Amino acid sequence: NHLKGTIVKALSGYYYVRAENTASDSATIQCRGRGVFKNRGLTPLVGDRVMYSLTENGEGTVEELLPRSSELIRPPVANIDLAILVFSVTEPALNLQLLDKFLVHIEHAGIPAVLCLSKQDLENDGLETAEAQAAAASVNRIYRALGYEVYGTSSRLGEGITPFQERLQGHLAVFAGQSGVGKSSLLNAIVPGLQLETNEISNRLGRGKHTTRHVELIEIGGGLVADTPGFSQLDFQELGIEDLGYCFIEMRKLSPSCKFRGCTHVHEPGCAVLAAVESGEIEKSRHEHYLLFLAEMKDKKRRY
Ligand code: GDP
Ligand code: ZN
Repeated sequence: NHLKGTIVKALSGYYYVRAENTASDSATIQCRGRGVFKNRGLTPLVGDRVMYSLTENGEGTVEELLPRSSELIRPPVANIDLAILVFSVTEPALNLQLLDKFLVHIEHAGIPAVLCLSKQDLENDGLETAEAQAAAASVNRIYRALGYEVYGTSSRLGEGITPFQERLQGHLAVFAGQSGVGKSSLLNAIVPGLQLETNEISNRLGRGKHTTRHVELIEIGGGLVADTPGFSQLDFQELGIEDLGYCFIEMRKLSPSCKFRGCTHVHEPGCAVLAAVESGEIEKSRHEHYLLFLAEMKDKKRRY
């Protein structure tokens, strides 16, 4: 008699499995894994959907791993189906190149992404107000046009939080974005009762956040969210040069129209992407970042 569930935490040889199809305050069952996984070279991950059985003492045994739809390495979480890419309007300043770098990695992982512009309370209040406003405006313009949803939030004022909570319903989500943009603060605002360390606290205690902790999935209504940010390493190591164009969604759409198969959209004649950049259909900054990343990847390949 096997039941279905999701591993929400792995610790000291135990897997904590949230039972599926139960009320929102569902039970978490402490389970042992089966030795058989090790023999087959399988390691159950947080986020794995599993079949488990109950034992007499109220604990359980993970009997079977169900197929994964995605697999993230940092943090190690299976089945993530939504990445929330957080950028603050200021402090730290909004950096579109970094934003595109995060998007490349998320697209490469095959995970749908939404953008969140955090710290909206600073937009009219920050030190570099004009720049912050311009940057926020270009994010809204460029990335909405590409089809990415853009949410605006202020954890400090509790604004924009409810639509965000609703967006996460039914998903297994991960937050991404550079340090200090307010990911932990957002999670605390979204999940009632959650008290993740935010930057000022971890600084005071003289240690970085998330250094000693294991990733754990937190329940929010009908969804789950990883308590550790994803895509923290952005070094293009797992990416092939030929994959890069595919990670820019507007180039992915146009590349079948390029004259040459395997067009790199740099200087090829008959390149549909270059033509679209020229006509303004593709945003110049996006193509510029594409060229920068391509150069970075080629440079890495040369050195190894
Ligand atoms: P993380 O590194 O991305 O997890 O960022 P934190 O959540 O630790 O926040 C970094 C800093 O930004 C902290 O000092 C927070 O108090 C501050 N912060 C977070 N959210 C907001 C916000 O909505 N408005 C303002 N003004 N500050 C914020
Ligand atoms: Zn091309």
